[in-house]
Amino acid sequence: MSDCIFCKIVDGSIPSNKVLENDKFVAFHDLNPVKKVHVLIIPKNHVDNIATLNADNESYVAGMLSFVKDVAKELGIGEDGYRLIFNTGEKAGQTVFHMHAHLLGGEEMGWPEA
Ligand code: C5P
Repeated sequence: MSDCIFCKIVDGSIPSNKVLENDKFVAFHDLNPVKKVHVLIIPKNHVDNIATLNADNESYVAGMLSFVKDVAKELGIGEDGYRLIFNTGEKAGQTVFHMHAHLLGGEEMGWPEA
């Protein structure tokens, strides 16, 4: 999608601080980290969010969790524990409508969060 910020990160027209990339996904540091480690994981093919996944793209994103595992390992938090959040829809706080997972870690996190 031409006006999507994350599509521009995928094609390199907007710079990002990349952690890891493969043929289907990219992981990069969030510009406004809310935890010591705050990385976004996105599929390279545009899809708005989980709610709009369909038969055409759900198999494409099926490997996303396995990629998350590789990213956590790369960041050195694979053993420590980490949190994965998919804000899905406006009411949940989604502001960028290109599906993404927030990978949070590197510090102690309570649940539910205060
Ligand atoms: O889940 P939500 O849509 O609110 O998250 C979007 C995230 O994308 C925010 O945490 C924001 O800081 C991040 N962002 C970024 N780089 C951009 C634009 C947004 O890291 N160029």
